Amino acid sequence: MIRYSLVCDHGHEFEGWFSESADFERQKESGFLGCPVCGSSSVSKSLMAPAVATARKKDEQQAVAFDQAQREAYIKLKEAVSAIRANSEDVGERFPEEARKIHYGEADARGIIGQASPDEARALVDEGIEIAALPFLPDEVN
Ligand SMILES: [Zn+2]
Repeated sequence: MIRYSLVCDHGHEFEGWFSESADFERQKESGFLGCPVCGSSSVSKSLMAPAVATARKKDEQQAVAFDQAQREAYIKLKEAVSAIRANSEDVGERFPEEARKIHYGEADARGIIGQASPDEARALVDEGIEIAALPFLPDEVN
């Protein structure tokens, strides 16, 4: 038996056992080979640091894959928050006041960002004003 480190087109790494090297190609062509995480049949032999990957225990490999997914999600979130910031007027501590003015038509409708205490935020929501909390995102992931 031969053990291969495999990776699907979504970057999930896993291991596969084959009777011979041609067995991998046969199973792949017949669509028999699937990623155990997402079911993708687009699977190839992992070329990325196989020595490191095979030295790790299986659960550690899954932890690494999960961290990568989290990292990608985090980067997407940061991009979304940046886009919101770029398209909004920063009204700072006047946020609750401005949000009310916009809601009641006393100020131009526009996107604003600023600070509100939890009590102020709750009061705004109670009045039917749509607000959302922007997560604070440190720059540890770039
Ligand atoms: Zn997968």
